Amino acid sequence: MRRWNGWGDESVDFALNEDMLAFLRARVGSGKPPADATLEQACGAVPASRLTPYRGIDTTPEVRLRHALGQSLPDWLKLRYGKVGCVPDGVAFPESSEQVRELLDHAKRIDAVVIPYGGGTSVVGHLTVPDNGKPVITVNLSRLSRLIDLDRQAQLATFGAGIAGPDLEAQLRAHGYTLGHFPQSFEYSTLGGWVVTRSSGQQSLRYGRIEQLFAGGRVEAPNGTLSIPSFPASAAGTDLREIVLGSEGRIGILTEATVRITPLPQREAFHAIFFPDWEAAENAVRTIAQAKIPLSMLRLSNPVETLTTLTMAGHKKLIGMLQTYLRWRGCDDRKCILLIGASGDGATVAHALRQSLRIARRYRGVHVGAAIGDKWKKNRFRNVYLRNALWQHGYAVDTVETAVDWPRVSGMMQALEQAAREVFAAAGERVHAYTHLSHVYAQGASVYTTFAYRLAGNYEADMQRWQALKGAVCDAIVANGGTISHQHGVGIDHAPYLQAEKGALGLGAMRALCHHFDPSGMMNPGKLLPEP
Ligand SMILES: Cc1cc2nc3c(=O)[nH]c(=O)nc-3n(C[C@H](O)[C@H](O)[C@H](O)COP(=O)(O)OP(=O)(O)OC[C@H]3O[C@@H](n4cnc5c(N)ncnc54)[C@H](O)[C@@H]3O)c2cc1C
Repeated sequence: MRRWNGWGDESVDFALNEDMLAFLRARVGSGKPPADATLEQACGAVPASRLTPYRGIDTTPEVRLRHALGQSLPDWLKLRYGKVGCVPDGVAFPESSEQVRELLDHAKRIDAVVIPYGGGTSVVGHLTVPDNGKPVITVNLSRLSRLIDLDRQAQLATFGAGIAGPDLEAQLRAHGYTLGHFPQSFEYSTLGGWVVTRSSGQQSLRYGRIEQLFAGGRVEAPNGTLSIPSFPASAAGTDLREIVLGSEGRIGILTEATVRITPLPQREAFHAIFFPDWEAAENAVRTIAQAKIPLSMLRLSNPVETLTTLTMAGHKKLIGMLQTYLRWRGCDDRKCILLIGASGDGATVAHALRQSLRIARRYRGVHVGAAIGDKWKKNRFRNVYLRNALWQHGYAVDTVETAVDWPRVSGMMQALEQAAREVFAAAGERVHAYTHLSHVYAQGASVYTTFAYRLAGNYEADMQRWQALKGAVCDAIVANGGTISHQHGVGIDHAPYLQAEKGALGLGAMRALCHHFDPSGMMNPGKLLPEP
């Protein structure tokens, strides 16, 4: 059973080791776990549904509660403290595009708001239920999960858009293929969610972001059905896929998606390289990216994240030996770890690793083999469970991500960490902030910063703390020339910052597009576009 107020399956835990706890205590102080609301208490606060019974719409309090929020830190605060606020009036589970069409027509007739729900892993408030006096129907798409078509010659697969990552990969693997899209939320996030939030998987260097993988599909919109055929390429004016990508549930419901697939790689390798400092590491990563070496992943951690990763790994004795060796090789307190991944046939993988290591050596990189990379691969979707463990020890974790061109990368990293430190210093608290470059391009990189800090222990204070942090880091992104999101999307949390990025004319065009498909504004209001 999925946790109702945290990440993942209730039967899975990922504990923090004692060294990591001591490390956190030294960095930010001792955490005090707040008392969580129970599921019964939270369900008890769910108001009566405003919907009259309708075929297939579930109005039981627990189902509505479980669809009320996503996975952002403010979503967690609401759930954990039992301050859920608005919940949908009912949840529908359609099984076909036709049923989705029928639901939209019904919602239009009764003047209801519709919120599409994929895996519920949004971290920017995409699923927040508006308080605008209208009844709200959330549409859970998990039953649209069939492999509808597989075209081996064109290497295309068409799926129901509600299919979650593991199911999608299992269905493709049975035929010898992969999509290769592995966001950290892979366990629950869905194909439709990836497309409409412009998601990026950890191996996007090889497989591409979802923009490159999404070839076409079908959208049921309040104003009709939009079918987008797949072409290898087209010069026929506006690419309609671009209207769907990043639409965040505002134009309609993506019910089917055709994606570009790849034969399963024969070999996959993840290796670790340490650099003596950030400057050397960044130069090496940029050079590797610009050499267009066929890697699947480049993930560079700054010194604080490197130290955090090594502490969290446990195995004190082994890590101690590694640190001694690295010190001897010139990588000491300011060292940075780079994980590189390569996938494909044996020769391609060997060639990609060899070329990358040659460049790394020019920047004093120390290759330590595959052990750390193998461990990363093993835990890549389990690490997310640490959020539960941290909460249980009284700590909150939040992340922010952006992308900038190479000349701005270091400045952005420093600005984000500094902005957070200042916010917490003003409150007399400390924050443990660390950064990695999660996706690397020839032009620049995404900058992904994590913040861990003590929970205040009551809803109002914790929400204020989060709001101050979020405001400060988003201001820093805008001031330092970054996009407000490289991969998580806009939702409600980033909407106020969109004007700075798109300009008035650009925002107007986005509004007009949404209005074209959804003239009455019934689809997921309040998300993506700032309130006028
Ligand atoms: C721990 C964690 C790690 C994450 N790691 C990554 C990462 O590595 N890369 C990344 O890109 N993101 C990441 N995310 C963010 C999140 O997983 C992505 O935004 C994901 O694409 C959301 O997919 P979902 O199916 O869960 O969508 P939901 O959260 O259910 O919905 C998100 C938005 O999409 C809309 N929507 C969903 N399905 C449809 C549909 N079929 N048609 C129309 N609208 C729809 C919803 O209305 C909502 O506006 C992470 C989140 C968490 C909690």
